[in-house]
Amino acid sequence: MVEMDKIVSLCKRRGFIFQSSEIYGGTGSCWDYGPLGVELKNNVKRAWWRDSVQSRADMVGLDSSILMHPRVWKASGHLDHFTDPMVDCRACKKRFRADKIDDDIWIHFCEATKGNKFNIPGGEACKHCGAKRTLCPVCGKGDLTEPRQFNLMFKTFMGPVEEDAAVAYLRPETAQGIFVNFDNVLQSMRLKLPFGIAQIGKSFRNEITPGNFTFRTREFEQMEIEFFVMPGTDEEWHQRWLDERFAWYPKYGIRRENLRLREHEKDELAHYAKRTADIEYLFPMGWSELEGVANRTDFDLKQHAEFSGKALEYFDEETKQKIVPYVIEPSAGADRGTLAFLVDAHREEEVKGEKRVVLNFHPELAPIKIAVLPLLKKNSRIVETAHKLCADLRKRWHAVYDDTASIGRLYRRQDEVGTPFCVTVDVQTVGDDKAAADDKVTIRDRDSMQQVRVDLTSLPRVMERLMAGEWPQVHAEHGVTRE
Ligand code: ATP
Repeated sequence: MVEMDKIVSLCKRRGFIFQSSEIYGGTGSCWDYGPLGVELKNNVKRAWWRDSVQSRADMVGLDSSILMHPRVWKASGHLDHFTDPMVDCRACKKRFRADKIDDDIWIHFCEATKGNKFNIPGGEACKHCGAKRTLCPVCGKGDLTEPRQFNLMFKTFMGPVEEDAAVAYLRPETAQGIFVNFDNVLQSMRLKLPFGIAQIGKSFRNEITPGNFTFRTREFEQMEIEFFVMPGTDEEWHQRWLDERFAWYPKYGIRRENLRLREHEKDELAHYAKRTADIEYLFPMGWSELEGVANRTDFDLKQHAEFSGKALEYFDEETKQKIVPYVIEPSAGADRGTLAFLVDAHREEEVKGEKRVVLNFHPELAPIKIAVLPLLKKNSRIVETAHKLCADLRKRWHAVYDDTASIGRLYRRQDEVGTPFCVTVDVQTVGDDKAAADDKVTIRDRDSMQQVRVDLTSLPRVMERLMAGEWPQVHAEHGVTRE
């Protein structure tokens, strides 16, 4: 498993993710997606939207606002319950989440070894004296305060007057925007149970201890589904969604062995949940939640009906009765997902005695799909043909042109950002004094580094097949050499 530092540095060097406000010294836990990062994250969101909404007959989409009526958060329980237990170090004043404090490395001054300092993995005891952590994990010296509950919602004011009546919150989840629009969507779209409403959008949580790159930040994007079902069919639908969502990540390249399911214990369940299971990924810092799939019962619709005074019900034609549907919620993080796809794609190999770094993204997720590379940048016919080819390909795929290094280096650069295919234009393509043009170009596959030579005219058709995963077939038909 690759270390997080390596991913952070590759992301900065190659334009995926930058520290926010870096020239001012950075803002803790905020990250900016660079030119390649925004493509990658957009591709993750697009794949999710297509698979969750557009290709299903039982789903519709929504884009609700971030600021909502403050009563929403009273009804949903977030004002009263959306808290994490926080403890402070009395010596260094650092703050920690009491329930996560044993996840990370802790510093220990061991009396059995004359007070030597050790860094001990989270949750483990000192090998020398057997002590477990009781003091501050960062300074190793201070006592910790008793846990206090800390509300994670960001508070702000709507309008020019900062008074209690104007208090508003940045949403801590996109889900509530879906619940309060339940009736609007149901009536306008004439939906029949079971059906789902999906939404992608920013959420905000004033996390006590953000960290691990984009894994836990205070501003992040969620991809959420609220799937409404007949009460009584909820358990079955819960399982169906768990299976569906678990299978989604491997479909776009995540290795199955890096995923697992973790059932929430009864005392861990959120106040609204009947059952929750997390899809966890083996991140560089260990197994951590990628997506939560919860059975929220009829809690939210009933709460909003009570607090708003508007019925949020479904009329069942068969029984001629009004019912409040149950809801299954697969809730994924766009940033966590993007990070998992990055980590999982990372490979280091040795090729001809040199290190090759590859991000082997699924073509659907790769920020750049095709790089067009001229073999000789001083040959104007080659350069012109390559530019024209790139412009043609760009109509259909995200393609780039690069002639700023030797071909070997250009290939390595594209490998490192995960471009699945490079197309090179050479002397044979355009011809010279000695030989006529053959009007063929070379396609090079990122993962196998194999190459094939195809007619310029058939390139779009071949590319279509390659993006669909047909490299082995295309190679067998045209096969030539390896880089
Ligand atoms: P955690 O236990 O890690 O704090 P959670 O159980 O509070 O997460 P949910 O409320 O289930 O998270 O949110 C659904 C999804 O939203 C998570 O699985 C994750 O992908 C994403 N998410 C939640 N909080 C954050 C955050 N602070 N930064 C980035 N993504 C987040």
